[in-house]
Amino acid sequence: MIDGSLAMDEHRPQRTCLGCGVRDDQKSLIRIIIGADGELITDSRGYGRGGYLHHRHDCWQAFLRRKNMHRAFRVNISKEVKQKLIQVLSEGYRE
Ligand SMILES: [Zn+2]
Repeated sequence: MIDGSLAMDEHRPQRTCLGCGVRDDQKSLIRIIIGADGELITDSRGYGRGGYLHHRHDCWQAFLRRKNMHRAFRVNISKEVKQKLIQVLSEGYRE
């Protein structure tokens, strides 16, 4: 749930998590782009078309279930590709 009393800091870029759909500070999200071979990869440089995810397993699972990914990536992302990304995230971002 979004807290209505939360003051939005306009100076910091806000991005929407592809999992839970909540806008958050860009720095607290993982940037995801499509690699040259059509796979989803994490990218910290911030160019190209992509989306964002929280560092949370709940968000990754929600991302897996969502089907309208072409809004962020302009192409449809298969479940296999998403599962591969989440596998990589799980190994690299231990909580
Ligand atoms: Zn999220």
